[in-house]
Amino acid sequence: LTILGLESSCDDTGAAILRRSGGAVAILSNVVASQTDLHAAFGGVVPEIAARAHVEKLDLMVEQALAEAGVALAGIDAIAVTAGPGLIGGVLSGVMAAKGLAMGLGKPLIGVNHLAGHALTPVLTDGLGFPFLMLLVSGGHCQFLRVDGPQAFQRLGGTIDDAPGEAFDKVARLLGLPQPGGPAVERAAALGDPRRFDLPRPLLDRSGCDLSFSGLKTAVLRARDGVIADKGGMTEQDRADLCASFQAAISDVLAEKSRRALAGQARLTGFAVAGGVAANASLRARLERVAAAAGLPFVAPPLALCTDNAAMIAFAGLLAFEAGQRDDMTLSARPRWPLDTEAAPMIGSGK
Ligand code: ATP
Ligand code: FE
Repeated sequence: LTILGLESSCDDTGAAILRRSGGAVAILSNVVASQTDLHAAFGGVVPEIAARAHVEKLDLMVEQALAEAGVALAGIDAIAVTAGPGLIGGVLSGVMAAKGLAMGLGKPLIGVNHLAGHALTPVLTDGLGFPFLMLLVSGGHCQFLRVDGPQAFQRLGGTIDDAPGEAFDKVARLLGLPQPGGPAVERAAALGDPRRFDLPRPLLDRSGCDLSFSGLKTAVLRARDGVIADKGGMTEQDRADLCASFQAAISDVLAEKSRRALAGQARLTGFAVAGGVAANASLRARLERVAAAAGLPFVAPPLALCTDNAAMIAFAGLLAFEAGQRDDMTLSARPRWPLDTEAAPMIGSGK
């Protein structure tokens, strides 16, 4: 079975082709057009610009994915598409494109929850078995999911305000570092002293695995203003120390909450991470130690499959297809779509 996946929920337009033969699933192609440059001047993703760029790029991405895979359009057996959650204009562009292809080819359409795509990636990349714990840490999300099967997710907790990627981006802005903030803050932190600034570890005093990052960002702002008030400005070293202290605080919180989430679950096969923030090497190392202490394998998919991509959508769509899911021309785009067993019994029910 050969499946085409489309992703357009945020600022990346992606298309990918996966093929199942027997037990194995191969990624035949996985292409993405990033819109980072289009939004750079605005300091964040502009929904209108994003939607227009998706419409412009979707056809091209599908053509590229087919060419790279060496597959003709007629060789596609099913079409999977992100039906939410995300920026509505982008999700709509993808759903419309997928409907057009499905109708034109007379092939099944499968609506996929974007978060299910992220959550199932360790199954695609490492063959991780169920149930496992997933920490999704990206620019827009932060949540712990217990993944019991291709369509069975339980949200154990998550951020009550900002996502960690957002916090990295805001801290970079506060310190005059370039966007995206995560890599810039990580580079600066490598030269800094993580003990110099005493930043809060939000919600560590509270049980459960909910998280909060907005207070941390405010604390960085106050620490910065404190240094400026004292010395009239910030040196490279001040910046590096503040980045290192911030990164240590985020890592402490995520590591401790991960430890608790793992302790609360029985018979897990592993601990996996996904999302752009999982690219952070010092955070990864911390989480790896938490998994080891719990006696579990740690799975961090390669970066290209950790951030937004269409291969994960094609894979989640493939599993849903095999479970019997079929959508039709009534498939709707959902800006909000919680990934919970109760809230969404079928990952792509789309209704
Ligand atoms: P979502 O997938 O939730 O819709 P998104 O598309 O913004 O959101 P990703 O592409 O998964 O998320 O990740 C981007 C985020 O990851 C940005 O906020 C970026 O700053 C952060 N990030 C990238 N690399 C690093 C790093 N090395 N350290 C920390 N954060 C990082
Ligand atoms: Fe994402």
